[in-house]
Amino acid sequence: MLGSMQSKQLLISSIIEFAEKNHPKTEVVSNTTEGGIHRYTYADAAKRSRQMANALTNLGVKLGDRIATLAWNGYRHFELYYGISGLGAVMHTINPRLFPEQVDYIVNHAEDSYIFVDLTFVPLVEALADKIPTVKGVIILTDEEHMPETSLSGKVKVMCYETLIAGESTEFDWPEFDENTAACLCYTSGTTGNPKGVLYSHRSTIIHAYAANQPDVLGLSALDVVLPVVPMFHVNAWGNAYICPMAGAKLVFPGAHLDGESIQKLMESEKVTFSAGVPTIWLGLLQYLRSSGKRIDTVKRLVIGGSACPRAIIEGFRMEYGAVVDHAWGMTELSPLGTFNRPKAGMENLTDEEYIDLSMKQGRGMFGIDMRIIDDEGNELPWDGVAFGTLQVRGPWVCESYFKGEGGQVIDENNWFSTGDVSKIDPDGYMIITDRTKDVIKSGGEWISSIDLENVAVGHDAIQEAAVIGITHKKWDERPLLVCVKNEGAEVSKEDMLAYMDGKIAKWWMPDDVVFVNELPHTATGKLSKLHLREKFEDYTLPTDK
Ligand code: AMP
Repeated sequence: MLGSMQSKQLLISSIIEFAEKNHPKTEVVSNTTEGGIHRYTYADAAKRSRQMANALTNLGVKLGDRIATLAWNGYRHFELYYGISGLGAVMHTINPRLFPEQVDYIVNHAEDSYIFVDLTFVPLVEALADKIPTVKGVIILTDEEHMPETSLSGKVKVMCYETLIAGESTEFDWPEFDENTAACLCYTSGTTGNPKGVLYSHRSTIIHAYAANQPDVLGLSALDVVLPVVPMFHVNAWGNAYICPMAGAKLVFPGAHLDGESIQKLMESEKVTFSAGVPTIWLGLLQYLRSSGKRIDTVKRLVIGGSACPRAIIEGFRMEYGAVVDHAWGMTELSPLGTFNRPKAGMENLTDEEYIDLSMKQGRGMFGIDMRIIDDEGNELPWDGVAFGTLQVRGPWVCESYFKGEGGQVIDENNWFSTGDVSKIDPDGYMIITDRTKDVIKSGGEWISSIDLENVAVGHDAIQEAAVIGITHKKWDERPLLVCVKNEGAEVSKEDMLAYMDGKIAKWWMPDDVVFVNELPHTATGKLSKLHLREKFEDYTLPTDK
């Protein structure tokens, strides 16, 4: 027997309609690419999204067409989130930090018909103009006054965003269609091989947004002021561009201004209560706060995810600035959130030290995400905080296959998706990432977690960033090499580092060597690129292997 409730389809357009009706005066503030602060409301955003939907319809855009964006977090990008997906077309957010050849590859793979581009990224599109035949037009996210001279003219139709929507009606009836229709396309950062597209549906996006705003996840309310530093060009700003209008929270977009000083200024002037970003952003902010003496007193919570969060960041914000750091784990294939770290019953009276220990874990599963860890033979491992193995997940916002079937079958017969992360899960259900499958160091048949070693190394005052990779070893197969970047002006030796780590890790985990470099390679999403680091140290011989 079927239930007798309405089967209204879950569509992204309903979010902006809801915000317009229920939170019309709530502000959306943007630090712009042209310079200066732009300020308007959810009612304005909703109107302009409808103007955009009309403009796209006039350009001939139809259900399923892929429309790309190459843009920072800002109000025009926000309007596109609704204008494009609301129409039933697919918003393809491109990460401008990908290598140009990867951008070229994904535009062609996605067969984008139009690209919306921020002023900053016009040169990137200019360089690709001869190689992207599916693109019929490029729309620059600015007004006539700031339109640049561009070599794109003559190759493709170049349009100005404000002019494109200026004459359009603010009325538009958002179409109703199947909630499983594709809404957004996001490519993985592709550390190996070509990037692969993850195609989110309206249904998966809305369910993810509901789940991500539970009290023990983002837990945002209409009283919050949210600064998503995490980019709208990769995994939809962790859902913030949907969750905030759903919750009626004020949105503050940082645009291209991601340095500590700009972030602090915006937090103070807009009275930001909540922000989300990757560790490097928070490190930059922490350094700025310490050197300038400035504060961020309105900020209650910061979410850190995307890569393992160094203890010093969690500690610094909590102890010096009174901001709680919530650690989150996710990935492109999960829309992106999978686990979130908040305390549970029995943890009410943790000391600061204990709370920080807890915060180092990647968090508990959100309702909707089923997770498990398995060994090399596929046996499920216990949640005892000791056993570690491949982390697998399944659920309504986990990808079933990549766009156009790239990579073949990616889930097993029971829908388990292997994340490529190696984890343990403690008896309270907190998941702890110990490594990427490719990065774990296999020494004499046992595994050494590169992340654990890195976390210890960055605890040293002189160290800014650290990476550990496995180096081939005749006797042990692989042994760890610690590669460090020193803080400016700091003095530290290999012997100092090893002495510092002694006692903090198992004896046999001690790196066989320590080298210092000026900088470490990073991927387009700001993660350490172990692939490039391993290439760099391909011919390296450890002193223990001579
Ligand atoms: P991406 O798809 O580019 O968002 O990358 C996803 C990957 O980033 C995950 O599979 C993890 O390896 C890594 N990652 C994300 N969040 C965390 C975290 N909190 N701690 C450690 N690694 C993380």
